[in-house]
Amino acid sequence: MNTFYQMWKIKTPNEAKNIIEKKHVKNPKNLEEQAIKLVGEDIYEKLIKGYTEKQWGKPCSELPPFIINRLPVRFTYYNNYFNDQYQGIPIGGYTKIIERLLKNIEVRLKCDFFDNREKYEKLANKIVYTGMIDQFYDYCFGELEYRSLKFESETKNLENYQGNAVVNYTEAEIDYTRIIEHKHFENTKTSKTIITKEYPVKYEKVKEAYYPINDVKNSKTWEKYNKLAKNEKNVIFGGRLAEYRYYDMWEVIKEALKVAGDELSNAGD
Ligand SMILES: Cc1cc2nc3c(=O)[nH]c(=O)nc-3n(C[C@H](O)[C@H](O)[C@H](O)COP(=O)(O)OP(=O)(O)OC[C@H]3O[C@@H](n4cnc5c(N)ncnc54)[C@H](O)[C@@H]3O)c2cc1C
Repeated sequence: MNTFYQMWKIKTPNEAKNIIEKKHVKNPKNLEEQAIKLVGEDIYEKLIKGYTEKQWGKPCSELPPFIINRLPVRFTYYNNYFNDQYQGIPIGGYTKIIERLLKNIEVRLKCDFFDNREKYEKLANKIVYTGMIDQFYDYCFGELEYRSLKFESETKNLENYQGNAVVNYTEAEIDYTRIIEHKHFENTKTSKTIITKEYPVKYEKVKEAYYPINDVKNSKTWEKYNKLAKNEKNVIFGGRLAEYRYYDMWEVIKEALKVAGDELSNAGD
């Protein structure tokens, strides 16, 4: 409602709904039509079109409608992005929580599974694989597509650069999608501040795979890999790269706990 008020100077949910429903699309066939159905043409043009096209590197009219379903649309003045009751990050950041979770557990960093696959596969009776599923099967059904990101960080000689942890840039003319100002995640008191600009880029094998492109073609390819994965007795495939899906942190942690719980209860049988 705050956005609708700023855009159209209207105050009630009914006024907002009347504006949006003027351009109602019955069966949205692509992201553009789905977005117009959800928030109307005006907001689509100003806040969604440029942002989404730079994020995915494709026109909204060529993207599947379901991508935008993650966008929560509410007719209330509640301004948080998500609806979850509890929101935040672990105190001290993720590094600290992971360090504690892994206390007294041997960890080897900078080891690529594929540099010595046989050795790693023999390390235990069952292994958890969190890498790319297509690479695991040597791309036998073809490569799955991803979007990648480029991060540019700068230290600013300022106490406060943007007043918020994340500010999104929706216009197509600006190459980055958002600026992160890290200190605001934890309200850190420092005289300087570090900001990071996030640029969406095309994925190539030397880059990090960030967002799966779950269109029909890729989903079909993933299903073929998943069929093979289901028959593996000694490998558990887990996480965003092995399952080729976008996961939020809470979802991936929940799934990991579930898989671990199932494994442990089966082991006890
Ligand atoms: C830019 C960005 C912003 C995000 N923001 C949020 C947010 O605000 N809130 C939220 O809830 N979620 C967010 N997420 C999603 C969150 O990052 C994921 O849910 C989470 O990281 C998924 O965990 P995972 O274990 O599946 O994958 P990862 O965290 O990617 O872990 C996979 C691990 O496998 C390792 N690996 C892969 N291949 C190999 C190999 N060949 N050999 C050895 N190791 C290998 C990798 O090094 C990595 O450590 C964001 C994601 C991105 C990309």
